[in-house]
Amino acid sequence: MDYRLTDEQELFVKGVRDLMERENWEAYFAECDETSTYPERFVKELAEMGIDSLLLPEEHDGFDAGLTTLAVIWEELGRLGAPTYVLYQLAGFTTVLREGTEEQIDKIMSLRGTGKQMWNSAITEPGAGSDVGSLTTNYLRKDGKIYLNGSKCFITSAAGCPFLVVMARDASSDTPVFSEFFVDMTKPGIKLSKLPKLGLKMDSCCEVTFTDVELEEKDFFGTEGNGFNRVKEEFDMERFLVACTNYGTAYCAFEDAAKYANQRVQFGQAIGRTQLIQEKFAHMAIRLSNMKNMIYHVAWKADNGMMTSGDAAMCKFYCANAAFEVVDSAMQVLGGYAIAGEHRISRFWRDLRVDRVSGGSDEMQILTLGRAVLKEYR
Ligand SMILES: Cc1cc2nc3c(=O)[nH]c(=O)nc-3n(C[C@H](O)[C@H](O)[C@H](O)COP(=O)(O)OP(=O)(O)OC[C@H]3O[C@@H](n4cnc5c(N)ncnc54)[C@H](O)[C@@H]3O)c2cc1C
Repeated sequence: MDYRLTDEQELFVKGVRDLMERENWEAYFAECDETSTYPERFVKELAEMGIDSLLLPEEHDGFDAGLTTLAVIWEELGRLGAPTYVLYQLAGFTTVLREGTEEQIDKIMSLRGTGKQMWNSAITEPGAGSDVGSLTTNYLRKDGKIYLNGSKCFITSAAGCPFLVVMARDASSDTPVFSEFFVDMTKPGIKLSKLPKLGLKMDSCCEVTFTDVELEEKDFFGTEGNGFNRVKEEFDMERFLVACTNYGTAYCAFEDAAKYANQRVQFGQAIGRTQLIQEKFAHMAIRLSNMKNMIYHVAWKADNGMMTSGDAAMCKFYCANAAFEVVDSAMQVLGGYAIAGEHRISRFWRDLRVDRVSGGSDEMQILTLGRAVLKEYR
């Protein structure tokens, strides 16, 4: 593959470097992590650079850029220590343009350029995790209105988003009909409980209950009955973004550890001169190289209309695990400084562990990939 950057990609990378050099963002990220606060000021800076318009078509003043350009930007941001996991929702602008009504589009597009959170999907329930088809949240038409009832859990950004797109089944149908609703979070009947979590703490995670939440026909998101088909595409995109984030984070940890290994002296020499430490760097470098090749290959496929759910699952599974191993090795190199004190590597380690469950567990990625591989030979 040709890894040379285009002029547009060079400009984005330069913009990212300038932004990251402008202030000590690490202090801000550490504080946001500590206080579980969304880093809105940082996301606004990125939005002002146009990063929230990256995937939008030109008729909406977007860059119409593909996933290769996105991967280039995510790699640079991650390498410089930025928590790109908070940017997953930027792809949501494109989804709303494709699926939303004019009113829904206006509401979401008005948040463009602000750095504010906008919407996220609420699918998972206490009794329906990997097995999403068993969800019980339901909607019922009555007297010209629609009433939504049920409970969702582990919903990212729910405390910060003005809207959630909620998946529910039609209570009046004997056969399963799954639809989505664009729900204004200020409506009566919605209760939020924040959940503490191990990592990815700059974004909220909530349990959300809906009790007779009154909706209208105009609040359907996309076509009634098409809920699962709609989210399938979203899952693929989310999985690709998770892989890019994992790779960037691992790259950052690797460089922190490499600099440390060359200057930390024990037994009269830099620890980087010992063969056991060199071995760790060899394995870290192999994993980073594999992640990069996989991500750019899949991005190229996506940009040419060839990415499959198997590709997205492979990227997420491999990068979540390989990045975790890289960060874990980097922690070992940093010794006590990675465990006690305030080094960012301990945050990376916590963040990466979450990604092996959220957005579809490791096991579900393997099942998706296995099915996709065999399908090609049927
Ligand atoms: C931080 C975080 C953020 C999240 N954000 C969102 C969100 O914004 N919106 C949303 O809708 N959901 C969200 N989720 C939910 C997430 O998608 C689910 O946690 C995930 O799909 C797994 O579901 P579960 O946790 O209920 O585990 P379960 O499905 O109960 O699985 C438990 C374990 O069993 C394994 N397992 C289950 N079935 C099988 C099988 N058939 N074969 C082999 N192994 C199996 C799983 O892989 C896992 O290891 C989030 C989760 C987390 C942790």
